[in-house]
Amino acid sequence: MVDTLTPSQRSERMSRIRSRDTKPEIALRKALHGLGFRFRVHKTGLPGKPDLVLPKYRCVIFVHGCFWHRHPGCKVATTPKSNTGFWVEKFTRNVERDKRVSKQLEEAGWHVITVWECDLDTHAKALSTAGVLGRDLRMLLAAKSK
Ligand SMILES: [Zn+2]
Repeated sequence: MVDTLTPSQRSERMSRIRSRDTKPEIALRKALHGLGFRFRVHKTGLPGKPDLVLPKYRCVIFVHGCFWHRHPGCKVATTPKSNTGFWVEKFTRNVERDKRVSKQLEEAGWHVITVWECDLDTHAKALSTAGVLGRDLRMLLAAKSK
């Protein structure tokens, strides 16, 4: 089979495969769904391809891995001791991209919520995180309809 992807398309696809349907993301989806929220997953056409999109609330949710996206103060967000320069540069790029994407979405009128992986790593935490999110979402909707 002929591979017709350009290198950038390929790396884009690879990163999507890696980041798609991760365990914490599924835990959050299940918990939110259980609370009655309906959403789309991996809707294309939005900056940064948010993990969950709730059009009714004009809200997007990113589920971020604490290590890759540098969860502030999190014990998972360590820096490897070898090749430190490489890692620091990579982390900086990730964090900058996250900021840029959030800004683009906010400018387009979206409310952006980031959920960290460590807040979803047990069933109980996923439920309580979804509960907090649910309250925020209802408040958003109430504010919108004023
Ligand atoms: Zn964390």
